[in-house]
Amino acid sequence: MSEAVRTTCPYCGVGCGVLASVDADGTTRVAGDPAHASNLGRLCVKGSALGDTVGPEGRLLHPVLRGQDGVAQRATWDEAIQRVADGFSRIVAEHGPDAVAFYVSGQLLTEDYYVVNKLAKGYLGTANIDTNSRLCMSSAVAGHKRAFGEDVVPGCYEDLEQAELVVLVGSNTAWCHPVLFQRVTAAREGRDGPRVVVIDPRFTATCEGADLHLPIRPGTDVRLFNGLLSFLFRHGVIDPDFIDAHTAGFDQALAAAEAESGDPAMVARQCGLQTADVVAFYRLFARHEKVVTLFSQGVNQSTSGTDKVNAIINCHLATARIGRPGMGPFSITGQPNAMGGREVGGLSNMLAAHLELGEPAHRDIVQAFWQSPHIAGTPGLKAVELFDAVGEGRIKALWIMATNPAVSLPDADKVRAALARCELVVCSDIVERTDTNAYAHVLLPALGWGEKDGTVTSSERRISRQRPFLPAPGEARADWRAVCEVAKRMGFERGFEFAHPHEIFVEHAQLTAFRNREPLADGVPAARRQLQLGPLAKLDRRAYDALAPVQWPVTEQGAGTPRLFADGRFSHADGRARFVTTASRAPAHAADREYPLVLNTGRIRDQWHTMTRTARSPRLNNHIGEPFVDMHPHDALRSGVREGSLARVVSRWGSMVARVRHGGGILAGTVFAPIHWSDQFASDARVGGVVNPAVDPVSGEPEFKHTPVRVEPF
Ligand code: SF4
Repeated sequence: MSEAVRTTCPYCGVGCGVLASVDADGTTRVAGDPAHASNLGRLCVKGSALGDTVGPEGRLLHPVLRGQDGVAQRATWDEAIQRVADGFSRIVAEHGPDAVAFYVSGQLLTEDYYVVNKLAKGYLGTANIDTNSRLCMSSAVAGHKRAFGEDVVPGCYEDLEQAELVVLVGSNTAWCHPVLFQRVTAAREGRDGPRVVVIDPRFTATCEGADLHLPIRPGTDVRLFNGLLSFLFRHGVIDPDFIDAHTAGFDQALAAAEAESGDPAMVARQCGLQTADVVAFYRLFARHEKVVTLFSQGVNQSTSGTDKVNAIINCHLATARIGRPGMGPFSITGQPNAMGGREVGGLSNMLAAHLELGEPAHRDIVQAFWQSPHIAGTPGLKAVELFDAVGEGRIKALWIMATNPAVSLPDADKVRAALARCELVVCSDIVERTDTNAYAHVLLPALGWGEKDGTVTSSERRISRQRPFLPAPGEARADWRAVCEVAKRMGFERGFEFAHPHEIFVEHAQLTAFRNREPLADGVPAARRQLQLGPLAKLDRRAYDALAPVQWPVTEQGAGTPRLFADGRFSHADGRARFVTTASRAPAHAADREYPLVLNTGRIRDQWHTMTRTARSPRLNNHIGEPFVDMHPHDALRSGVREGSLARVVSRWGSMVARVRHGGGILAGTVFAPIHWSDQFASDARVGGVVNPAVDPVSGEPEFKHTPVRVEPF
């Protein structure tokens, strides 16, 4: 057996440390890394099955070019790089930089993310680069920026164990972030473990054993948390000294909350809850100083997702429950490197180092650092509108990396039509066949987990190394290398001379320190950005290879920072956090006679995204083997379907086929279907084709949790 390599799980945002080794017969063995602070040796069932997913079956092993006749043929890397560079250069020359775009992924390593953003925003001069992280946590990003002045998660996982009360909102933590849930559960086995409240329309595995479950009516979270703010004020639980010294906007936010949600009985009616349960939740929150409110996709994936995030943060600011052990609002990210992507400007409205693309002074900082020929002048298109622009012919070349938008985006049939008309579609992927790769003119073989070399950042701001322990199969290459080669062929000789991910990481770390803390040229006081990796810029190659997991901001001594804002100073230029006035509003599309049920979507325990890796593991497939739609028995009866039968789920945007289940715990009037299946694994089973494309007006995050549908016999 080979010596165990310390690396990081490539699935959810918990970012568990993994010890990986290879037997003499080629079998990959994995175990939780007891030295990694995120998981302390634990792994969930998906992480434990990683060894099943790394074989050569189905891998894309060499570049492929599709000719005008539609025939796909093996090509050399040289031919493929030239085709991409020529295509992008021609389209930029004929139609301008905004006619090209990139759609990337929270699966990329930070180093990959950094160079593709640099090429797009600094060299091509377009901000049309967005990421599938837009679909999962962009509302949290926008909420953090509004409240704190920067996209930061204030706390750390230990807070969940040190809390007296953990509130889980819109999160089936037991299935979607299992190791975190295990940590909470283990803490509850002690005498002083936290009490747990779950706020979720469904009764999920997370609710089993909770002290209180609020089966909230979908879309009404803002009202519930505005009601909490009002309750805290009326019961004298707020902290006026903290509010005066460290925040702004409290009076306006409180007035709006009072006007809308001052009466718990009314809140209960609007949220579809029992008044006694609402009051019980409010009392628990009021009585416990140490409260962590952990939230996930049930909050973010909504047309009022950003307001939901801020309604939660408002309650923590009002009580000063932030920046200290065992307390704070906590956004838990879906993907392994959603956070790292955010750090290097992975979203179309962001620049690297948490700088804003819409701020001229911030653009100056980045361009001065990069010494680049261009800097994108305006924020680019967000995921849904980016694919709309492809469909309308405004974007003519699109490079997709490590994601499968033909399955995962809302209104996915429209996405397919857009890809079909796009002049040049480039896909970088580890597997040959996906629903999206079917539209590629150029396929570039990428490295997978076990082969990649770089860093990821978890939900608690912890940077960990992904280290290779397997050889690259066939001609697969790192994504950063492919991007650099294309950049150089497009004439950008300077700026992309990287020979190793270490050099990219060092440049990224340098940029986080570049003119951070200095007053800006126009006299505006600089925001104090917390994303601070400056000391890591001194790492040599050996130290980078040996880098131990560390939470940014990193101190001069190289130590991490578990909690932010302990000094009450936030990242807005005046150092104050902001209360954001929020008002509840209904989801974009209401159920009606034709579409009387509301479709909610999400993950199951043992599959990941569009199953291109996890479906290779028999033990993971054993959990739930086919697409399903979970319904209340009364709704099934009214719809003319029964448990175990196949049914068609139909919305105004499309339809899918799934097997009816009465999994229990689902509100009448709602149905649930998982996001994972595609045409590759089951016929007519893409839930993305059913989901409506409405987005949050601030974050651009789609409303995956609320699409009116009907269910009919198949
Ligand atoms: Fe991987 Fe997440 Fe499971 Fe940890 S909890 S092993 S990061 S899937």
